[in-house]
Amino acid sequence: MEEIRSGDHVQMRKSHPCGSSEWIVYRVGADIGLRCAGCERRVMLSRNEFYKHLKKVMSKSTGGES
Ligand SMILES: [Zn+2]
Repeated sequence: MEEIRSGDHVQMRKSHPCGSSEWIVYRVGADIGLRCAGCERRVMLSRNEFYKHLKKVMSKSTGGES
């Protein structure tokens, strides 16, 4: 299981209705907060849900970008 951090870009198995399947992680805790890269909509997923739908981690955060 891959460790994810705030700022990581991830690809999910199911794309958002806006057409984007890329999300940016903005919060990591008991739940994972994701922001859609296409339309900026924010969702919260439990860790179980997140890892169930995770396809791949696209880029690791270097800590500079917000
Ligand atoms: Zn979207």
